[in-house]
Amino acid sequence: MTASTHEVFNQSSAWSGANLFEGNRALKDALAFHLPAHDASQLIALGSEAGCAEMQTHARLANLHKPQLRDHDRNGRRVDQVEFHPSYHALLGAALRHGLHGAPWRRAAGAHIERAAAFMLFTELEPSVLCPVSMTYAVTPALRANPVLHADWGEGLAGTRYDPRFMPASGKTALTMGMGMTEKQGGSDVRSNTTRAIFEGDTPWGRACRLTGHKWFMSAPMCDAFLVLAQSDAGLSCFFVPRWRHDGSVNPIRILRLKDKLGNCANASSEVEFDGDTTGWLVGDEGRGVPQILAMGALTRLDCALGTAGLMRQALTLALHHCRERMAFGKHLAEQPLMKNVLADLALESEAAMALALRLARSVDASEYGGDAHEEVIRRVLTPIAKFWVCKRGAGFAQEAMECLGGNGYVEERGEGVMARIYREMPVNSIWEGAGNVMALDLLRALRGADVATALTRELAAARGEHAAFDRLAASLPDRIDGTTDEAQARSLARDIALLVQAALLRRHSTDAVFAAFCVSRLDQAADVFGLLPAGTPFDTLLERALPT
Ligand SMILES: Cc1cc2nc3c(=O)[nH]c(=O)nc-3n(C[C@H](O)[C@H](O)[C@H](O)COP(=O)(O)OP(=O)(O)OC[C@H]3O[C@@H](n4cnc5c(N)ncnc54)[C@H](O)[C@@H]3O)c2cc1C
Repeated sequence: MTASTHEVFNQSSAWSGANLFEGNRALKDALAFHLPAHDASQLIALGSEAGCAEMQTHARLANLHKPQLRDHDRNGRRVDQVEFHPSYHALLGAALRHGLHGAPWRRAAGAHIERAAAFMLFTELEPSVLCPVSMTYAVTPALRANPVLHADWGEGLAGTRYDPRFMPASGKTALTMGMGMTEKQGGSDVRSNTTRAIFEGDTPWGRACRLTGHKWFMSAPMCDAFLVLAQSDAGLSCFFVPRWRHDGSVNPIRILRLKDKLGNCANASSEVEFDGDTTGWLVGDEGRGVPQILAMGALTRLDCALGTAGLMRQALTLALHHCRERMAFGKHLAEQPLMKNVLADLALESEAAMALALRLARSVDASEYGGDAHEEVIRRVLTPIAKFWVCKRGAGFAQEAMECLGGNGYVEERGEGVMARIYREMPVNSIWEGAGNVMALDLLRALRGADVATALTRELAAARGEHAAFDRLAASLPDRIDGTTDEAQARSLARDIALLVQAALLRRHSTDAVFAAFCVSRLDQAADVFGLLPAGTPFDTLLERALPT
């Protein structure tokens, strides 16, 4: 390409047309470990679709043309709907077609592991449309507490033919769900919720209440229903709040505003009010709303870790691609020794994030399909750890990957600059569904509830005696997980367990080089910035593994 004053050269090409699954060795190795007999055909199909130029254009347009609130019609009647660009619908349709929402609950053992891999791959295409997908996936265990409701809605929540129409659930081919917990005065401390639920009557769906109050954040308000926390006479309770009641009338949910967010632009996040006429049906025991909705929150937390791992892989891929095409000081950037160090370090982080998130998904799968006590403990402990650590590493990762592209990394150019979009998206996974401190404190709660020491000993066994730094850190754990940990040390503990579990997983399903480099760079020294791998690290070996083929 030429301009009138100069030739344009030494600019990297767009990254497009690759099969995101086939090119991801680390993911394939991890899946082979967790699911040796799995049929990869669906992931290959998704990998191809998620990497293609047409879908990438949809991702760009869905983020560029943000959702618009349509609160009233032209005659002044409230309609409370959100309008999306057609590309948003194309992406959400693809996510449901690939079964990333409720479908795994209706499949066989292994479904949650495969779904986790698919979720990471789709994130590399577009993460923000996955918000309603994630909530729809996560709602099933909570909804089961109201068996009649679950029987009525379960099939629709697993439906793979996306149906964006605003109409009663009974006529739709697929349903989506969201959640409303956070209020102005408190999100982490949901006990401060002020939304009131007044008993209205008993119905085929059980106890119905009228809700009055608000939610300060309620994402994906065009979902077909939400789980909502409200105070009833017995205390904070969990309610099923559909957009349409089962008698065919609209259930009033006033959408006041859409949030003007840093990133996550294709997804609508709203502020809503319930005006006293909004009906909610009780899910689970009255007064036990927090544990009830946390059955959902535990799985959206899994998706935060999976989503961050997917974004890391996408950012790494873009950085590798750019550095292999861009020349500086007479060589490709990818051949410059210090850039090799940075890229190899990012590759270690990306693989370790994926490994930890997938391990958590395996424990979810095991719990659903007859898992043992060990998997239950691992699931409980790794949920806050993976959410905390993987998501916390995301923002720094995105910054470093962006810097690999130099100034171009910082430029969006109507959505063509994907790296800038990744950077703006990255922090949200750390904040929503329980911010970092809240996750670290939840780990302390988990430590009080079960024999975590035994479970971790088993989990870490594969790497014991394999690296001195690993053994040193692992030896410090028993005294720190006896249930008396000082709250102020919760982050430090969460980080250390995360790193040890990651190392043990890399020992089991990655290469010797990856395991050794991870131990020396994360367990032996503080990994404060990327690119500190010591002399002697086999950079080329690490980069060859990470390269998207
Ligand atoms: C884009 C987006 C979409 C969202 N979508 C939804 C949604 O669909 N539904 C929904 O219900 N919510 C949603 N949220 C809200 C989100 O879950 C909350 O913002 C989050 O849980 C934090 O709550 P808060 O904002 O009230 O902050 P606070 O609770 O005030 O927390 C502020 C900070 O204090 C820390 N903190 C809190 N307690 C302690 C403690 N005891 N010790 C030490 N530190 C502490 C937290 O870790 C955090 O860093 C969304 C948020 C965003 C940004």
